[in-house]
Parts: sequence; structure tokens; C-alpha cells
Amino acid sequence: MKKYTKPQLTEKLRKVFNEFIRLRDQDRPCISCGERPTQQAGHYFHASRCPQPSMRFNEKNVNGQCIYCNKWLAGNIQGYREGLIKKYGTYVITDLDVIRSIKQNPWTHFEFETMINYYKNKVRYFEKETVETRAIGRCDKVIK
Ligand SMILES: [Zn+2]
Repeated sequence: MKKYTKPQLTEKLRKVFNEFIRLRDQDRPCISCGERPTQQAGHYFHASRCPQPSMRFNEKNVNGQCIYCNKWLAGNIQGYREGLIKKYGTYVITDLDVIRSIKQNPWTHFEFETMINYYKNKVRYFEKETVETRAIGRCDKVIK
């Protein structure tokens, strides 16, 4: 098996993790404005300020966002905070703060590879579920 560098593994994980977030939140509106549809995976604590993998690839720290909030409103953080509390409950902000403040050893190649496989499987699950849901939707239409 080819030995990837840590930056290559981070990039591979980023791609599959963000794909998972977009699929998970595809039926929810943007976490920040609650209006426009989910188009991207947006961070609450941004990866540039919190580059440690435990925050960068944290399922509560990353949620579906519209391009407008993510790109043009710099994450629309006040709206994001309210959306997080609505989605996960009041303690989510404290939980993320605690995780953010814990110093971690850098992830090993094995840890990166494990997480990449974990999210590949989750993406497969969502893709399969989406196809089945669409198929059921079509059947319902035929029956009615
Ligand atoms: Zn938005």
C-alpha cells in the first residue's frame, strides 16, 4: 500500500469528511441562516484557527452551510452559534470549547487511515440511502 504523507492524508480525510457532512445535512437548511439550502461543509471553529484533527474533523464543529454564509459572511458565526444550540442543545458550545483547549498528540498515519475509511463507509451509507429513498418516492408516486 502506498505510504501517504500527513498533508496528503489530511487532504484525503478533508474531502471525504466534508462530503459526509454535506450528505448528512442535505435535507437541513444552512446552520447559520436557517433559510438557504446546505451547499458546503462549514466550520464553527475554523480550521485555520483550530487545525487539530479533533476539531477540524469534529461532526458537531462542522455542519451544512450555504455558500453565502460560509464565504461572504465569514461563516455568519452568530447565526452559526444559534443554529448549533438549536441542533445539538445548549452544552454544545462548551463541549467544543473543551475539546478545542485539550492539547493532543499529532494523529498517526494509522489514525488518519482509520478515519478516512470510517467516513468513506458513512458516505457510502448515505449515498445508498439517498438512492433507496428516491426509489421509494418514485414507487409512491406510481401507487398514488
Ligand atoms: Zn446561510
